[in-house]
Amino acid sequence: MQRILFTTVLLAVFISAFVYFEPPDSSIIQEKNIRAHMAFLASDALQGRGSGTVYELIAAQYIASQLQQFGIEPAGDTEADGKKSFLQTIALPKRTFAEAPRLRFSVNNQITEWVHGKEIVLMQATAADNSGPLQKLVGNGPVKAGAMVLLNAADHLSGKGFDETLAWIAGQKPAAVLVPVLPEWQKFWASLATRLPQLPLDTEHSRSSPSVIFLSDTAVKQLQQVAEGTRIQFNGKAGTTEIEHTWNVVGVLPGSDPQLSQETIMLSAHLDHLGVARSASGDSIFNGADDDASGVVAVLELARVLAAGSKPQRTVYFALFGSEERGGQGSQHFIKNPPVPLKQMIADLQFEMIGRPDPKIAANTLWLTGFERSNLGPELAKHGARLVADPHPEENFFQRSDNYALAKNGVVAHTVSSYGLHEEYHQPNDDIAYIDFSHMAQAINSMIQPVQWLANSNFTPAWLAGQKP
Ligand SMILES: [Zn+2]
Repeated sequence: MQRILFTTVLLAVFISAFVYFEPPDSSIIQEKNIRAHMAFLASDALQGRGSGTVYELIAAQYIASQLQQFGIEPAGDTEADGKKSFLQTIALPKRTFAEAPRLRFSVNNQITEWVHGKEIVLMQATAADNSGPLQKLVGNGPVKAGAMVLLNAADHLSGKGFDETLAWIAGQKPAAVLVPVLPEWQKFWASLATRLPQLPLDTEHSRSSPSVIFLSDTAVKQLQQVAEGTRIQFNGKAGTTEIEHTWNVVGVLPGSDPQLSQETIMLSAHLDHLGVARSASGDSIFNGADDDASGVVAVLELARVLAAGSKPQRTVYFALFGSEERGGQGSQHFIKNPPVPLKQMIADLQFEMIGRPDPKIAANTLWLTGFERSNLGPELAKHGARLVADPHPEENFFQRSDNYALAKNGVVAHTVSSYGLHEEYHQPNDDIAYIDFSHMAQAINSMIQPVQWLANSNFTPAWLAGQKP
């Protein structure tokens, strides 16, 4: 009898303890919350959250307000009155061509002129004036410094792929690279063709890479008839320099442990997208639902859950970067003005394009760029994350998001994604109609426990030997 009573009491204590510790509703991310954030961030009202536009600022302000509501503290700029803001405001000088730049050459005194948006599109400019002798590159032949280098699709655009080819050529300092447009780049061509291209800001990127000009099929055929060494001029009238602004949102959940709180982890995403432009489909708003409203929502919802439960021992930062789509300007500023020395930042998970499942991997799973480079991915997977290696290594995604700038600065930083190379990438129809909310909810939920574990453990992620970028 006593024994039974004892057991009953023990059982009652156990059950009440269990009931007490049962996670409150706030520890589960519900689809309705995700839909609500997405419906705002990817709405037409936000006009595609164009980098450095007032719509990017509105998105930033929304994110800041949400973080504030969740109990996250501001960790952006210090205002004139000494108060902290959630926002980091970044001044950006910007120059655009005043009119469409042109490519010109003369054969037997006959001048041929091609205009950006028609026969050619300028993908990236490193100067307002790029001119030099034509070099029709064959195979791995050396590139002449200062030349206007015409690639051929068979030798240079198959196999290794465009990014790698460009990196190889860039090292040999040509004036510009002339690239035959591949059929699969037509949509990309169409969206570039509608805007006046920007002139470079003086960034590390602009100094290390040549101007890149895409050529239509007819332009390529015509240029192939032109003699090697013919002077090719490519230039346009530069507009005046204007100062624009872009915004990061930075919040912090201070760690509860005196020692471990000195170590910080970061969850990040980018809040901007491509804004508005004319497009063939007639829809002009690039909503960027998957890219990267989905990642922003993952960070917001993880912030809400982390702030609602018992406080993590480590300090957690939440950063939503502006102007990622314009060369990662927000994250570059963040790295130069971090809220805590980067040495204390032991890991960053950037969330990019998790709104749709990737058919290349199992359902309700995410992949991690550079999975094989550090012990972070495998360790998160051990703690329940449905996280696998990036199934598209040829796309170099590890280098293609904000995580890379952080990784170059010593932070073990990777991007979490489930981007399956869908057709709507960087198109106006990357909108909410294509989002798989059930996938998104399960994907974000699957990250809660692993992130909570990381925020409460003393495990320090590290690059594997020879894998540090
Ligand atoms: Zn993106």
